[in-house]
Amino acid sequence: MSNKNKVVIIMGASSGIGAATAAMLAQQGAKLSLAARRLDRLQEIQAQYPEAEIEIFKADVTNEDEVQAVIDGTVAKFGRIDVLFNNAGIMPVNNLNQVAQNEWQQMLDINVKGVLNGIGSALPIMRKQQSGHVITTSSVLGYEVLPGYAAYSGTKYAVRAIMEGLRQEEHQNNIKTTVIAPGTVKTELFNSINNEKIRNELKDAQKLPGAEMTGLDPEEIAQAVAFVIDTPANMAVNEMVIRPTGQT
Ligand code: NDP
Repeated sequence: MSNKNKVVIIMGASSGIGAATAAMLAQQGAKLSLAARRLDRLQEIQAQYPEAEIEIFKADVTNEDEVQAVIDGTVAKFGRIDVLFNNAGIMPVNNLNQVAQNEWQQMLDINVKGVLNGIGSALPIMRKQQSGHVITTSSVLGYEVLPGYAAYSGTKYAVRAIMEGLRQEEHQNNIKTTVIAPGTVKTELFNSINNEKIRNELKDAQKLPGAEMTGLDPEEIAQAVAFVIDTPANMAVNEMVIRPTGQT
């Protein structure tokens, strides 16, 4: 695997897609910086792969200084950054008429500003290297809107716009961009839904409205991320939409 020795930062690595990607890349011999707020979860991943080179960082992506510390700590330890995977996100879905100001603010801060914080901190290093790869997790809800998901969808459309802008501004500096857009994946994301009725409906079935199917395992999204990281320098997979086959 050519992911061996790649230096990869994963923001939001403590569970779900981020944790599965960390595990897969650790097995492929990548050098990893894992960041999230739950340090104990990151320690568990580190302990599972004692052979792998893994640095862990307690960091909240909404805090620019903490994000910068992840970037600086990675360069200090590994000497470069090959990949930044902006994966942290929450999905406290609710109808707009609930006027859930706190949820809107949190989603904008984590899902959008968190991605910008990662890009802003890593870009000077990647430009200096004249190489790098930024991967960001959007969603199928970054392509379509469903009732109840308007605010979350807005954040996921936003990161696609930001990533397309990044591609246009930085491709000449040899910086690759990839948007990963999963359909339903079986993770802890549904715990971030405060509206109990919606949470229970979704958790029971792990499905989106109109989609009578089972969600993907996070390991299946990790495979896609490992694939795009493994592509040659002159090949950029700019967007990848991955649905469970049965999802509408
Ligand atoms: P999880 O809830 O399992 O993972 C979310 C990750 O984001 C955790 O590692 C969490 O770490 C981290 N995170 C949340 N808030 C912050 C923060 N403020 N600072 C740092 N890290 C944070 O869910 P998923 O694996 O499903 O979610 C990963 C991404 O995939 C999200 O962007 C989500 O929107 C997206 N997605 C998920 C889909 C699904 O069906 N599951 C479908 C489409 C997209 P911690 O809490 O320890 O900080």
